Amino acid sequence: MNNPASNALSVGKLQFRLTLLFLLLAACLTGLLSIYWFKVLEPQLRSEARASAAALAQSQSRNLANALLAGLQRHSPQQLADAMDEVLVLIDPNTRAHFVEGLEVEVNEDAVAGDGGQFDLNRGDITCGDCFITKVPLYSHINHELLGAAVFHSSSLAFQRLHEQVRTKLISISALVLLMLVFVWYAVTALFLKVKASEEAAAAATRAKSDFLATMSHEIRTPMNGILGMTHLLERSKLDPEQQDRLHTIVTSSEALLVILDDILDLSRIEAGKLTLEAAPFDLARLARDVASLMSGRAQEKALTLRADIAVDIPQLLIGDSARLRQVLLNLVGNAIKFTPQGAVTIRLRRLRQPPSAPGRIPIELAISDTGIGIAAEQLATLFRPFSQADSGIARRFGGSGLGLAICKRLLEAMGGSLRVDSTPGVGSTFYCSLELLQTDGTRDETPAPPEAIPRLPPLTILVTDDQEINRKVVSSLLAQEGHRVVEVSGGADAVAAAAQNDFDVVLMDLQMPDIDGLEATHRIRALEGYRSRVPIIALTANILNEERERCLHAGMDGFIVKPFTPEGLNRELGRVLAQHRESQINDMIAK
Ligand code: ADP
Repeated sequence: MNNPASNALSVGKLQFRLTLLFLLLAACLTGLLSIYWFKVLEPQLRSEARASAAALAQSQSRNLANALLAGLQRHSPQQLADAMDEVLVLIDPNTRAHFVEGLEVEVNEDAVAGDGGQFDLNRGDITCGDCFITKVPLYSHINHELLGAAVFHSSSLAFQRLHEQVRTKLISISALVLLMLVFVWYAVTALFLKVKASEEAAAAATRAKSDFLATMSHEIRTPMNGILGMTHLLERSKLDPEQQDRLHTIVTSSEALLVILDDILDLSRIEAGKLTLEAAPFDLARLARDVASLMSGRAQEKALTLRADIAVDIPQLLIGDSARLRQVLLNLVGNAIKFTPQGAVTIRLRRLRQPPSAPGRIPIELAISDTGIGIAAEQLATLFRPFSQADSGIARRFGGSGLGLAICKRLLEAMGGSLRVDSTPGVGSTFYCSLELLQTDGTRDETPAPPEAIPRLPPLTILVTDDQEINRKVVSSLLAQEGHRVVEVSGGADAVAAAAQNDFDVVLMDLQMPDIDGLEATHRIRALEGYRSRVPIIALTANILNEERERCLHAGMDGFIVKPFTPEGLNRELGRVLAQHRESQINDMIAK
């Protein structure tokens, strides 16, 4: 099952990681470009600029050679050198930039004897940092003696221009890439935000749905209490066989409706992530046997063999939620019996040989096999979806809401396990529940004892508090039939007032009432106990959640009855609470 909360969390985390990744990418890009610029491009530019400056100086010097040599014949070398130092400015023919901004001619005066001379262009040398100096030696034509050297100063301007141009290009390309990165980051983040928003909306919708379902189920339970209560009362009156048969139909239909209500509530709680699982030691082998014996009556009705095949190496005590596991098993075995016209149903419990995911955990498998009608391959895909039945004819033939398997699968998954099925139409099906449970040496949480015999209670005086008239009527009539005396009140404040004035044997307290609710009324009744003896209080509620039970016990109540209830259920809880009350009275007396 998808847990929207955890998904929302992962989207937030992902978004953060993505932003970090983009920042890292941007930093890497900037770093790489800087390294490329300083270590590769700039030295390369510099050497290329030098080479081209030298080449240009040398080619220009060719043109100078003649003028220089011709001049040497007419002027003194010093005159010539001075003139040249002042005059020469060379212009780059391509860029029109000043290229050589000065020229010195160093003349070896002793050697200026002969006429003519030449530049040895291959022997020039280049020094300097940002400027380029090209020295071109000048040799005599006649005796090849060194006459002097023409020194060309090439400006660093051209290099700087090139440098700037390349740098601008590089910076604009990096800015563009960075801009693109930011854009991609923005787009992806926006997408994540959208996903997050839609996930939140989906989670809110799921919450709204489950709240709606929970409220509906609660609201429907209240009138159901009236229907079932009245039918129970009717069952006890004199009826002819036809009326009895009709009444029986009302009872079974109402009970089926209650099962569906409970299933819907269960599913909505699981989907809203509100399911809390118990973790207490329990005997799994015994649980499997209990389920088999509980369902044996139904199997016998259809002349089916129901077997529990339990491996000997199953540890005696494991830790888990035995009530939820029992619910899963009851559902699967119930289905197996329902969909098997003849043959056998087997519950097989074995230890899996695979290594556990953590030390101390025991991988186990519960397989429920039947020799029933089986499930067609194409229907297996949707089998675990809520409200899915293998085919629509099934609902008509066998009844059911198609929620059971969806709940079983989600429960097992919430326990860290899984549910899968193998089935062949006409041959049978096997449902495999696999899960890992912690082994323990601790003592067992007492698994609920088989339903005790319903106690015979002496006539009691009972205060019934409920704001709904029908509910009061149902409870009072049931109690009156058992021979109890009943005082009815319709609100919490009246209940407190009644408890202050009378000694009741027990108080039945509705929880939701318009004036003061059942928990508050209980607090106030308990506050009276300084001068009155303690009266047992039993909650009457349509809320079946465990948290509600805890709240009631915490508020000082002694028992808990879920509406709608059966006369037997009511009597059993009354008997249990009164027995417990008597026991604590005796203990108090001994202590005094
Ligand atoms: P339902 O309350 O309708 O039984 P489930 O979720 O328990 O809902 O089952 C859904 C459907 O899966 C059933 O209606 C039936 O078609 C099919 N199914 C479940 N168990 C069996 C089985 N043991 N053999 C054949 N079909 C099964």
